[in-house]
Formats: sequence, C-alpha cells, structure tokens
Amino acid sequence: MAECLFCRIVNKELPSHIVYEDEDILGFRDIAPVAPVHVLFVPKRHIASLSDLTDEDGPLVGKLLQSVANYAATENSLAQGYRVVANTGPAAGQSVAHLHFHVLGGRQMGWPWG
Ligand code: 5GP
Ligand code: ZN
Repeated sequence: MAECLFCRIVNKELPSHIVYEDEDILGFRDIAPVAPVHVLFVPKRHIASLSDLTDEDGPLVGKLLQSVANYAATENSLAQGYRVVANTGPAAGQSVAHLHFHVLGGRQMGWPWG
C-alpha cells in the first residue's frame, strides 16, 4: 500500500527510530509519545487492523506479540510492567489503518483508559 504511512516507514521511505526488526515485524518509536516508553510494533505486511485478520494470520500475530515481550524484556524501564494497546476502528480512535500495537510504559499507567 504505497500511500499507507506505516508501510512507508516499513519500506524506509520515511525515517523512524527503530527499536526492533526482523523479516516480518518492525518496532519503532511513536512520533508523539504519551509515556517515557512509547513504541509501535507492526507487521511489515499491510493489514489494516485487528478486524482484518484471517485465521492464516495467527502465527504472525503470535510472533508480533512475542517480539513485543522480547523487546520489553530488554528495556529496563519496562521491568515493572507495560501496556499493549491496539486501537481498532474509529470508535477506538485508530488513526493509522495499518495494524499496530502500542507498547507503553516507564511510568505508572492509569486504568480505566478514557
Ligand atoms: P492510533 O491512533 O492509530 O492508535 O496510533 C497511531 C500512532 O501513530 C499515534 O500514536 C501517532 O502518534 C503515531 N504516528 C503518527 N504518525 C507517525 C509517524 O509519522 N511516525 C511515527 N513514528 N509515529 C507516527
Ligand atoms: Zn500499511
């Protein structure tokens, strides 16, 4: 998807601060962080949202979450915990239509979210 913002980041057409990369997944810092640690983990293949997953995507999503956990284990400031969020659709405030997990931490997080 040439016009998708996160596809352009995946393709290195736009700069980002990368924190994790393998052949299927990219992790990079959010441009407008709301916590001391705020990174986004995305599949390199364009999938618009959780709602667009198919049964065949199960292994990819498992790998995506495992890569989040592996990354979190290397971040000292996430040692006390962190939050993973996937805003899905307009009512949840999803603003970029390429599946992404927010990984948030480095401070005490409030709950419930807004
Ligand atoms: P959503 O609102 O879809 O859940 O999350 C989209 C996230 O992408 C937001 O937190 C926003 O700050 C982030 N974002 C938007 N544009 C860019 C960009 O160009 N680069 C990076 N690194 N993050 C972006
Ligand atoms: Zn995309």
